[in-house]
Amino acid sequence: MVHFSVIVLGGGTMGSAAAWALGKRGVRSLVLEQFRHVHTMGSHGGKTRIIRHAYAESPDYVPLVQRADRLWQELEAEAGDRILYRTGGLDLAAPGFHHARDARTSAERFGLPFDWLDGTEVRRRWPVWKVSDDWEACYSPQAGYLAVEPGLRALAAGARQHGVTISEEETVLHWHADGAGVQVETDRAVYTAERLIITAGPWSGRLLAELGLPLTVLRKTLWWFELDDPAPFAADRFPVFITESEAGEIYGFPADQSGRLKVAAHSGGEPADPHTVDRETRRGEHQDVLKTAQRVLQGVSNRVAESSVCLYTMTPDTDFIVDRLPDSPQVVVGAGFSGHGFKFATAIGEQLAALALDPAETPLPRLALSRLLALD
Ligand SMILES: Cc1cc2nc3c(=O)[nH]c(=O)nc-3n(C[C@H](O)[C@H](O)[C@H](O)COP(=O)(O)OP(=O)(O)OC[C@H]3O[C@@H](n4cnc5c(N)ncnc54)[C@H](O)[C@@H]3O)c2cc1C
Repeated sequence: MVHFSVIVLGGGTMGSAAAWALGKRGVRSLVLEQFRHVHTMGSHGGKTRIIRHAYAESPDYVPLVQRADRLWQELEAEAGDRILYRTGGLDLAAPGFHHARDARTSAERFGLPFDWLDGTEVRRRWPVWKVSDDWEACYSPQAGYLAVEPGLRALAAGARQHGVTISEEETVLHWHADGAGVQVETDRAVYTAERLIITAGPWSGRLLAELGLPLTVLRKTLWWFELDDPAPFAADRFPVFITESEAGEIYGFPADQSGRLKVAAHSGGEPADPHTVDRETRRGEHQDVLKTAQRVLQGVSNRVAESSVCLYTMTPDTDFIVDRLPDSPQVVVGAGFSGHGFKFATAIGEQLAALALDPAETPLPRLALSRLLALD
């Protein structure tokens, strides 16, 4: 039986980030990933992810994203590859909705740079927007997007450089806490370790079945629409955005290299099982997102250039789980990233490694398991 200090179960977003953090600490670690590293079966498909600091969900997340941002920059410098694109970001809200104000609250609390705009000013600065005068927006110059594949590849390369083993196409069948350590059985071998970090994304519910965590997997669709004229949507003049209105929340990115606009709905989504979910988009499924995008932006055509399916793993309060297991503190879980975890990955990876290795490290209260287990 091969022995490691730490095993990471799941080499997706958070597992790759944990691997980089463990590697930097010089810890003999093994990452077990059931697919090839970087794939479209879990939660990191779709090429790009928004990073924003004026965090509408709660100011509690601001220090975490600030730490993550610094680490993304460190990773970029180490990898020599571009990962972070700072396009600026717009958090917009229709009258009666509070997303923009909530973003402003976080910006004010932490002294982040922002501009508070009404609909008129939004249209003046970015003429493709056609929101009415009574919309509100918080513009954040620090926001932008992360390129998923270069980001995850850089994390894995960094981890490997520091001696971490990443085993691809190896599925964990069972794990159990064994005395002070753990035993992990895969479809190829049995391993032992002192610590286990479980970062299994949408598969977490099944791997942690004994805990009975209230996790729901949602099937989400992503759409790339052709633009009548991509020029005003170019990354040097069009920020990433989130809009909240009667139609729910949609978000989007500047035009990609092929001149297409990627847009998706953050709200909604069908409950799904990662083992059986339909990973093809269906005919007509883009209509709601398209209608909402066309209502607020000029020049978005009806032509779908590309689409994909990706999975959210939701907690009831949409806050993450980053904590040790109560009865087996040698096992650390990073799960339930509820459709907004990617931007934080570098900081979460560091936190997962610290929880595994440093007995004095405590979980962030907002991300503690106890809040969910107390629901029973
Ligand atoms: C459509 C969409 C848009 C999003 N947009 C944003 C955004 O703009 N900004 C943002 O910050 N976040 C965003 N997110 C959220 C973010 O991408 C996720 O929170 C993050 O990717 C979750 O990472 P994870 O490591 O939990 O899951 P994953 O990246 O899916 O990793 C889990 C890994 O575990 C592996 N695994 C599972 N079970 C086993 C097993 N038994 N054996 C071996 N390996 C196993 C899986 O194969 C997988 O690779 C978005 C998510 C989606 C789906």
